[in-house]
Amino acid sequence: MRKLIIVGGGSAGWITASYLNGALNEQGKRPRVDITVIESPDIPRITVGEAPIPNILKTLNVIGVDEIEFMRATEATFKQSIRFVDWVKKDGSSYHHPFNIIRSEPYDSYGYDWLCSDRSAPFIDMVSDQPRICEMNLAPKQLQQWNFGPPFQYAFHMNALKFADYLRDYSVARGVKHVPANVTDIHMRENGLIDRVSIDAGDDIKGDMFVDCTGFKSLLLAQQYDVPCDDYSQWLLCNRAVVAQFSYEDYYPGCVRPYTTATALSSGWAWDIPMQTRRSVGYVHSSAFINEDDAVSELLAYQGVEPGMVDTRTIPFFVGQRRKAWVGNCVAVGLAGGFIEPLESTGLYLCDEAATVLAEYFPFSDEDLEPFSQRFNRIISNRYFEILDFINMHYCLTKRDDTEFWRTVQQPKHINDRLKAKLEFWTRKEPSAQDFIDQSFMGTNPMISMGDGSFVRTPVDSGRLWNYESYKSVLYGMHYDGYDPSDLDYSKRPKPSPIPFVAERVKHARQYLPPHDVWLKRALGMQEWETAARPLGWCND
Ligand code: FAD
Repeated sequence: MRKLIIVGGGSAGWITASYLNGALNEQGKRPRVDITVIESPDIPRITVGEAPIPNILKTLNVIGVDEIEFMRATEATFKQSIRFVDWVKKDGSSYHHPFNIIRSEPYDSYGYDWLCSDRSAPFIDMVSDQPRICEMNLAPKQLQQWNFGPPFQYAFHMNALKFADYLRDYSVARGVKHVPANVTDIHMRENGLIDRVSIDAGDDIKGDMFVDCTGFKSLLLAQQYDVPCDDYSQWLLCNRAVVAQFSYEDYYPGCVRPYTTATALSSGWAWDIPMQTRRSVGYVHSSAFINEDDAVSELLAYQGVEPGMVDTRTIPFFVGQRRKAWVGNCVAVGLAGGFIEPLESTGLYLCDEAATVLAEYFPFSDEDLEPFSQRFNRIISNRYFEILDFINMHYCLTKRDDTEFWRTVQQPKHINDRLKAKLEFWTRKEPSAQDFIDQSFMGTNPMISMGDGSFVRTPVDSGRLWNYESYKSVLYGMHYDGYDPSDLDYSKRPKPSPIPFVAERVKHARQYLPPHDVWLKRALGMQEWETAARPLGWCND
């Protein structure tokens, strides 16, 4: 049987172990791969990564977990959207990027209609019921049998430590071996493949395939194979986060928001991730524009908390990707392979995606390594490019000029070439499905700097992660005015109206959907969790 050794037991390590055990070993029932996770008892996990996106559901499905059990174990709540506050201007305005967006069939003209309107209501509220459902603090699920039309897409907010612990316990119970030890040395074969690793608590461990899940340290891929990292900091300026935990009582009692909030601050933005018993808040910022003490003060002031009242932790990070995620018989998953800042919660997505591709391209012989690694590297690399463009777009479209940070992120030199090509194209038409269907975006095959003076042409198969609707929710949410199909003055244009399906769902939502906190309390059996304030009108008890 092939031996797979995973070094590192953070979220990446345990997602990889449990996914491959589900996909290749049928949760241990028909083992084809012998999986071992070596996890340092001394080096803590990063313990952020608390807000995935809906693909997590597919991952959990393959792993084989029960959703209710999972939500109980990880303190999970529902996430239906990201609400961006103060990104266009510092005026309290906001827009949602929800997971559910409706398109008209057979030809989607909703975006065009909205562009021709007076734009007095947000585009996304016309094509998605989820922003309003989020603002009403409703759950995306009912307590009884579902009877409210097409189901909602959702993900979770969850405790990152408990998430990895849960996957660990789940996979160890189904045959995955867990070795608590530090990897101290890596031994190579003559052919350049890894033969075995030494640990500080036992004999060397041999393997056929190794997965580097050691976080930013990248012990195998960077330190052993010396694979360089392509630096994205020219386009994504943030490189540090101050994180803290806050309680509910002093903020919005009884209502657990079913969405992540991303509020633009002076030199970056802050996430607010509501979990069952607390909120995780983190200020992602650029150290070039604010020092650490001021970032802490700004985060606490944003939460209305006196200095010293809450413990904070600072996490420095690097944005970029390893030039190859898979070299020889070593593949990096998670932070060991790269990182793009968490504005659209894509870290865990990249772990899921890597595990998914690795399961399909698992090398059952050494001859598989070369062809499978080429495919793997291309797929993962394209995901990074796609995420880079999308996150870069959130920043460069801002109209804020109140701080040096916001004035800087809009400068052309901080917009990458692929994104420039997209935005230029969307001055002629609005984004649509065909824009995302082929391998190279709109005929442009941009050159990407490899960081060492060399350049490569990158075929980018955009659209796998976010489609044109997601682009439109951000573009129009950010008031992108590159394309206007109407020559009428705004005062003469019709008001936009939500598509009937959306209007109907919003109208009846409170009758069908329980408040989020009520769903959590009843469905997860959290009897001790009493609520203080609750939206009116809910009656499907
Ligand atoms: P880590 O958690 O750092 O794990 C590394 C593991 O390697 C640990 O178990 C450690 O003990 C082990 N290790 C290290 N050295 C050795 C050794 N020598 N021997 C044995 N073991 C070793 N993602 C999202 O999807 N949504 C988010 O909202 C989000 N927010 C984020 C916010 C910030 C500020 C950052 C930095 C990241 C965020 N991410 C987010 C990304 C997410 O946190 C990571 O993708 C995810 O946690 C995976 O981390 P990891 O397992 O690769 O690394």
